[in-house]
Amino acid sequence: MNEESFLSTFRYYEPESVAEVVSALKDNVNSSVIGGGSDLLSEIKNGTTKPNVLLGLSRIDDLKRITATDTEVRIGSMVTINAVSSDPVIKRDYGALSEASAGLATPQIRNVGTLGGNLNQRPRCWYYRNPLIDCLKKGGTKCYALGGHTKYLCVTEGERCYIVHPSDTAVALSLFSAEIEIASAGDIRRIPIGSFFVSPSENILRETILGPDEFVTAVYLPSHAPESRHMSKYIKARERQSGDFALVSVGISLKVSSGTIQACNICFGGIAPTPYRSIQMEKYLVNRSVENLDVSYAAGLAISDPKPFPDNEYKVTLATNLVKKALSDLICDL
Ligand SMILES: Cc1cc2nc3c(=O)[nH]c(=O)nc-3n(C[C@H](O)[C@H](O)[C@H](O)COP(=O)(O)OP(=O)(O)OC[C@H]3O[C@@H](n4cnc5c(N)ncnc54)[C@H](O)[C@@H]3O)c2cc1C
Ligand code: SF4
Repeated sequence: MNEESFLSTFRYYEPESVAEVVSALKDNVNSSVIGGGSDLLSEIKNGTTKPNVLLGLSRIDDLKRITATDTEVRIGSMVTINAVSSDPVIKRDYGALSEASAGLATPQIRNVGTLGGNLNQRPRCWYYRNPLIDCLKKGGTKCYALGGHTKYLCVTEGERCYIVHPSDTAVALSLFSAEIEIASAGDIRRIPIGSFFVSPSENILRETILGPDEFVTAVYLPSHAPESRHMSKYIKARERQSGDFALVSVGISLKVSSGTIQACNICFGGIAPTPYRSIQMEKYLVNRSVENLDVSYAAGLAISDPKPFPDNEYKVTLATNLVKKALSDLICDL
């Protein structure tokens, strides 16, 4: 067996507070937090990352709870994907998030995988995951995907690196004005999910704004009175029906009143390096009557200025068809 496929050695310990995690991240330069380990351990195994210290978060109870007040729902970063998908408030008020979580990976991974880990998982690009290849994302000098396998790469917003955003929950959370809570030395701050992810043009080495001694403690969703709740839907196309990432996924949330679309959010996964909000399609739909809506025309606006590779033009068609189906299904449910 290739020696690269063995886990490198690391120290593991479990801090008992958020402050202790932050100080351990600061004191140990090459350390990582770990949730369920379903992504990080395979990264360590194939040598993509080699932390000296792993910080388990499972002793911090506050990170493992979902709590709701009149104004917001807080999901701790150590809440499992399974718990997100089955929570009754999330099912009722944020249907697309429940659907995205329920259809993600496999039952085993949903039982151990956490929301924090899902949002911070690393890209799936084959070349990035290969221990023998140092591509631009690993500090090398070349993108090996260019001129290689391009079937799974992005079709828009790629620059020097052409990964797609892998997290299903991030796409769904982008529909609901979610905020990410981040702990760093002496500070806890909240930022909109749209500012959390960074594209390769901003930082080719990372996918989020997190600094080395920061980690995610929770995700917040605004609560709405029943009359102003949005209806929402998440659909994902993949090659295998279980345990597979999205070729393309789409989430839509709609608020319809007296037959007119009052508000609309649309976000895609699998087509860009970060969750892709279809602002042009949202603008077209708002203030339109659902009765005579030209769904095909609206769906044609899904991706502005797509730049597919020869092997992934199918993603543009897939995105158009998926969003058409999601929108039609939501309108039928009115
Ligand atoms: C076969 C397979 C199929 C999969 N399919 C899907 C899929 O369809 N959709 C999908 O979205 N994902 C999929 N995944 C990816 C992923 O493993 C899971 O989604 C899971 O949610 C990751 O959570 P975790 O707690 O196990 O993360 P971990 O492996 O523990 O961590 C992943 C990364 O996040 C970091 N991290 C963990 N917690 C935090 C935190 N609180 N703050 C900051 N950083 C943190 C870690 O340092 C690490 O870099 C799949 C994985 C596998 C192996
Ligand atoms: S697409 Fe990005 S991650 Fe993949 S080989 Fe190119 S630089 Fe590396």
